[in-house]
Amino acid sequence: MPTFKIAIDGPAGAGKSTIAKAASKKIGFVYIDTGAMFRAVGLAALRRNIDINGDKETVEAMLGEIAIDIAHGENGQEIFLNGENVSTEIRMPEVSVAASDISKIPSVRKKLLDLQRSIAEKTDVIMDGRDIGTVVLPDAQLKIFLTASVEERAMRRYKELIEKGVECDFDEVKKDMEYRDKNDSEREIAPLKPADDGVIVDTTGNTLEESVEIILNLINERRGK
Ligand code: C5P
Repeated sequence: MPTFKIAIDGPAGAGKSTIAKAASKKIGFVYIDTGAMFRAVGLAALRRNIDINGDKETVEAMLGEIAIDIAHGENGQEIFLNGENVSTEIRMPEVSVAASDISKIPSVRKKLLDLQRSIAEKTDVIMDGRDIGTVVLPDAQLKIFLTASVEERAMRRYKELIEKGVECDFDEVKKDMEYRDKNDSEREIAPLKPADDGVIVDTTGNTLEESVEIILNLINERRGK
């Protein structure tokens, strides 16, 4: 039987991962955070001091030397870079920017696309990212494009980082977010955009609970429950 696939795309800080995690728990699907995969590749390049925007050949050579794996534990998805659990380290702001820069390189996207598709073939998933409904899982039964104002997204991300004990400045967080929005939307390959058959959900002003409920209603409707 084909698996049931739910794609959630949208800009940084729209609440994709929190909402997808809560919804997947409710319906018993596996939650896959594809951004974490790009972050792990970005982290690998940062550790090697590679100039991501200037030296694509070295990035490509690096791809053959790194293994990205995911596992599902008590804390949700955990991500491994050559066997090392990097789930916490990939959340650092400099890794966000490295992930966004590295995600423009076609060979990086190809490596991760294969991994993402192979997971969704085996199990029912809610997968979040930027190009899940448009490129990775074009046959997803439900495609959601989650968005919110840039002010609100930056504030949510800022609070999240502070809660995690990461020192940061609101204006810096907002600037990084605007940089990534532009990078992700304007890149040639798999740009961030709603799928033609996607549902756009704007979460500006919503509580988390309200947004989760909207998503769960869409899921139940699509699954005929
Ligand atoms: O979702 P998250 O903010 O963790 O993603 C980090 C970066 O990885 C994004 O800014 C984007 O450039 C890239 N990404 C992507 N395609 C995806 C998921 C993430 O290009 N499906």
